[in-house]
Amino acid sequence: MAMPSHVKYLIIGAGIHGLSTAWHLAEKLEAQGKGGGRDILVVDKTAIAAGASGIACGVVRNNYYQPAMRELMAQCVEVWESDPKAFSYHPVGYLQISPEAMRADVATIHLQQQAIGYDSAFIEGAADSTAYMKNLFDDWQARGITSVLHEKKGGYANNTASMYGLATKAENLGVRILTGVKVTGFTTGHNSDAVTAVETDRGAIECEQVVVGVGPWINQVWNMLGLPKTVTIKDARGELHHDIPMWTYLALEEGTLGVDPNFLKTNAGAMPPVIHVDTDAPLHSDVDGALITDQMWGIYYKPDFNFGGIQGGAMPVKVEAPADAVAIDPYGPESPEFVVDDNFAHMWCSALAFCHKRFEGQIKHYKNREPSGGLGCFTPDSFPVFDRFRENVTVIADSNHGYKMIGVGKLVAEELLGGSSALLEPFRFSRYAEGKLHPTSHSPFPWS
Ligand SMILES: Cc1cc2nc3c(=O)[nH]c(=O)nc-3n(C[C@H](O)[C@H](O)[C@H](O)COP(=O)(O)OP(=O)(O)OC[C@H]3O[C@@H](n4cnc5c(N)ncnc54)[C@H](O)[C@@H]3O)c2cc1C
Repeated sequence: MAMPSHVKYLIIGAGIHGLSTAWHLAEKLEAQGKGGGRDILVVDKTAIAAGASGIACGVVRNNYYQPAMRELMAQCVEVWESDPKAFSYHPVGYLQISPEAMRADVATIHLQQQAIGYDSAFIEGAADSTAYMKNLFDDWQARGITSVLHEKKGGYANNTASMYGLATKAENLGVRILTGVKVTGFTTGHNSDAVTAVETDRGAIECEQVVVGVGPWINQVWNMLGLPKTVTIKDARGELHHDIPMWTYLALEEGTLGVDPNFLKTNAGAMPPVIHVDTDAPLHSDVDGALITDQMWGIYYKPDFNFGGIQGGAMPVKVEAPADAVAIDPYGPESPEFVVDDNFAHMWCSALAFCHKRFEGQIKHYKNREPSGGLGCFTPDSFPVFDRFRENVTVIADSNHGYKMIGVGKLVAEELLGGSSALLEPFRFSRYAEGKLHPTSHSPFPWS
């Protein structure tokens, strides 16, 4: 495909956000008689699904302690449900299984899910929680659990397949997707801060609006845009915290136990919901009984034919280096630095055995020859920033919550056409200085 020298809307990144924005924007332009897909160009330095969206576990859930996240996720689940086949979406539901320290938080989530009409059941107390889980899996044996939130909606989707589904929807409306084009900088107008052209390794492209959806590469593009490398945060007491780095990296730990995915069917013979377990019960090795941790820990898992086994993950590991010093490329399984090691396999497989008897002694099937895991880029509060900068640059920086956020592109498209989205409002960059922070939960994960 020839490189255009001018386009109205230029979208950087062919992951979930870039592609969803392109598809929805094309639809809206056409519906409003303002143009169509031909006005939109998506560029990606590598390929469709070359970033986090192409390696994500693919879990789609509503379980967030932050009201704004829940409302946004409910909108996103509607988009997933709009075409499960095209998105390779499996609406099996989701289980959040928690210890006493999290019970009150999760009870709030359930109440608010009821308020927004998001179907879920909440089971409380150790005995009732165990009975509920045993009714699903007769070999359930996790300890330290006093609540179960069962979201009846949500589930998971197959990462790369869903990106191609989105790309097809966009291309069918005339959107052009150019891969192998790397953005290297931005040209600014004479009398304003607005971007007039995007510079790439294949030449400059003049444009009117830019959308940035570059996932873990956001720190690089943020630097190109000259945006602040640190922020001041006002906390709940009104105290100011200066010079907080805007971006930090975490290594996401995921892997696959190479057994038949049918190994984790429910008692009723059905595919189970995605399972997330947090507990403060000590975790011992399934190999030699040694203590792995006596701190709160958590895992998630699901049978997945795409990954070829039981796939899931555990808590992420902090990357200590400052953002500018972190090597994002080669990304994902190709990274020599940010793939999981034997410690992850040992912990995660032991944790599976802690939950279900059927996983005892199964660590030998862990797929240790297939590198897995990948980097995620996080904001100071680990929640997304969706905002407009430099007058005409919309940044979608999801702080690693994003695979499930297929609906954000729809809201961004509305804003590009002059609307304003109440769902996106709590995620503006100004919240740090204004102290409009999201509440934090007792979960051991930074994304709950
Ligand atoms: C291991 C792992 C598991 C995860 N699991 C889940 C999950 O289960 N559920 C969930 O909701 N989220 C999950 N996430 C988070 C989720 O994957 C990301 O938040 C989301 O995919 C980000 O989407 P994106 O479109 O912003 O970026 P990406 O999917 O990363 O796409 C960005 C694209 O931008 C391109 N690009 C970068 N720089 C440039 C440039 N200079 N010029 C041109 N193109 C460029 C890249 O090549 C890439 O294709 C997971 C993340 C990881 C790493």
